[in-house]
Amino acid sequence: MQYPQLVSCHICPRNCGVNRYTETGFCGAGSEMKINLATLHFGEEPPISGSKGSGTIFFSHCNLRCVFCQNYSISSDGWGSEASTLELAKLMLNLQTQQAHNINLVTPTHYSPQVADALKIAKDMGLSIPIVWNSSAYESPQTLQSLTSLVDIYLPDLKYAYGIHAAKYSAAADYPAIAMAAIKEMYAQTGNLISDDSGIAKRGTIVRLLVMPNGLSGAQKSLLRLADEIGTEISISLMGQYYPAGKASEYSELNRGITEQEYQSVVDTAQELGFSDIYVQELSCCDTWTPKFSCDQDNMGWQNNGVAIGVAIGVAIGVANSDLPQHPEDASMTAPLSLPMRRLAAQEMAAQEMAAQENPNMEQYL
Ligand code: SF4
Repeated sequence: MQYPQLVSCHICPRNCGVNRYTETGFCGAGSEMKINLATLHFGEEPPISGSKGSGTIFFSHCNLRCVFCQNYSISSDGWGSEASTLELAKLMLNLQTQQAHNINLVTPTHYSPQVADALKIAKDMGLSIPIVWNSSAYESPQTLQSLTSLVDIYLPDLKYAYGIHAAKYSAAADYPAIAMAAIKEMYAQTGNLISDDSGIAKRGTIVRLLVMPNGLSGAQKSLLRLADEIGTEISISLMGQYYPAGKASEYSELNRGITEQEYQSVVDTAQELGFSDIYVQELSCCDTWTPKFSCDQDNMGWQNNGVAIGVAIGVAIGVANSDLPQHPEDASMTAPLSLPMRRLAAQEMAAQEMAAQENPNMEQYL
């Protein structure tokens, strides 16, 4: 099947216009989907990971390609194996069989038409758990509108408030405006976060803001824009897991983790602005929690027999990298983890709000 969207690709705001059946654009993706890892993931926000894990599928290539990407090997280097729409549908169904709370599609934007087809196939075959679209937000409203009836939960980043930084680290000076428009479309489709009786997300949008060293992500400015343009009921997740990954060491200003003070000032701003649903994270300054992605392009070995997906991919990784487990029993070691997140308790928020009222000085953030 040939996708007209790929013949002259304008799927994302890069608008490369290339024929992806014969060439590649900025993202590096061709016409076939590539996937590196599909596994249960326990390190997302509590309503996404829950107790049984999020059924997470990591796609290869990326249309943003940040120099500091913690998944650089798959986002910029493109590690992964090709998968058809039917194979992707079966991966989703197998994750559902493993009791995943949801299907969590990580960086799927450049494969939107194929992923949409795979979702339709999987739903026809019995996929019933919520679908999470976990993206950079560097996306066009038109592409997001094509997902309206297919995606239940959006989990976008809001990476930069300032075009100068977006240009330097992601070659996307227009990122702040594009991402805000994309998040508005996501929020219009799904509304505020709705969870079931167990606290597992069923529908909604959670915006992730990565706190970077030296204020380079402009997280406080992004919070102010979110509050102004969307409101403070939208759920936000303040991420403290930055460490210099990818090519970050080539940029002195990116070449360290963040401080407690840098992180806390963003938390304080979120509370002072009145956001009502905030997820916070402990700080990390190393790659302990980063997924170990396979560099084996030909030996991914998709399996379709229930619990085998994580194991199969774990074995494939083991083949490719002797540092990683060789036995299926050890496959859980290869599961991608990120630092546990927690919801900021109402009491804690109230206490910090009182402290902020004693020292109101929002200008310092802007
Ligand atoms: S999806 Fe890839 S090829 Fe298409 S416009 Fe975006 S970056 Fe360019």
